[in-house]
Amino acid sequence: MRREQAPFNGKQFILNQATGEIHDLDRETPRCAIDEAEPEQLFACDTYAEAVLFASVLGITRNGCAHCMPEHHREAQAGEDRSQRDRI
Ligand SMILES: [Zn+2]
Repeated sequence: MRREQAPFNGKQFILNQATGEIHDLDRETPRCAIDEAEPEQLFACDTYAEAVLFASVLGITRNGCAHCMPEHHREAQAGEDRSQRDRI
C-alpha cells in the first residue's frame, strides 16, 4: 500500500537504510512491518534500480524483502554463498 505522506511521498519502492531491505509497496505484506520502521531511515523512490543505486552510494548491503520482493531476496547463509561460487 503506497502512502502519500512523508517520507513515502506516494513512491513505490522503499529502502530501509537501517536494515538494507528494499520493499515494493505495491506488493507489501503485513510482515514487511513498514509502519514499524523509523521514518528517518526510509528512502522512497520510483524504481528498484534507484533503491539499489542509493544503497550502493551509502555503502549499505541491500537485500530485497523476503515478503514483497522474493525475486531479489538473498539468504545470508554461508552455504548459499559457497554454492554460488561453485557455479562460477
Ligand atoms: Zn517488504
